[in-house]
Amino acid sequence: MEKISIAIDGPASSGKSTVAKILASDFHFIYVDTGAMYRAITFLAIKHNIAFSDEDGLAELTKKYPITFKQSAHGQLVFADDEEITQAIRQPDVTGAVSEVSAHGKVREELVEAQRKLAQVGGVVMDGRDIGTTVLPQAEVKIFLVASVDERAQRRYKENQEKGIEMDFEAIKEAIAKRDYLDSHREVSPLIQAEDAELVDTTGMSIEQVVTKIKEVIQSKGF
Ligand code: C5P
Repeated sequence: MEKISIAIDGPASSGKSTVAKILASDFHFIYVDTGAMYRAITFLAIKHNIAFSDEDGLAELTKKYPITFKQSAHGQLVFADDEEITQAIRQPDVTGAVSEVSAHGKVREELVEAQRKLAQVGGVVMDGRDIGTTVLPQAEVKIFLVASVDERAQRRYKENQEKGIEMDFEAIKEAIAKRDYLDSHREVSPLIQAEDAELVDTTGMSIEQVVTKIKEVIQSKGF
């Protein structure tokens, strides 16, 4: 497999990270979870008492605490500086505030630069909201994954239960819809399908079916 870049964008809980991890593993590519980076800054803001509206303070955090990923037997771990924050960034306090933090241009500037550096090695699957439009506009393959809000809430509910995170179904659905609204209506790099991205609606599809579909798209592009 040629060392191409695969950009996977889409709304919250559309299955991006699950399929991105499988594709990265099958192709021996690196996987970059850009949502984890925005979540990490949100976690740091809470920890260091920086207001979610304080653009300069938040941008400062991105410079002060480099966010890194490490592979482990239990999957990819996320670190801010030396602190392991893999679980902490999935908690409702972070999820509820991340869209406000990620809307700031200065925060995005710093993180987009870091994301492009990570992709420089070649052979990358990167998921997020603006990968195909802003971070890697030259990506050879761009996928825009969508699913109904009901199905996405069901998936997140199940996932939370498995991870021991308590949150009621309606609250999850509301939080997803709110995050989608904020992510698609911000001024800087809103969530939007790139013109050359392939739309894949995963409603009613299994993970295996989605992976197969994306592999077909990749093949149809000659890779
Ligand atoms: O993908 P995940 O749901 O973990 O992303 C968390 C949040 O990070 C999103 O709701 C969005 O606000 C932000 N994000 C972003 N741009 C990306 C990835 C995530 O703004 N490329």
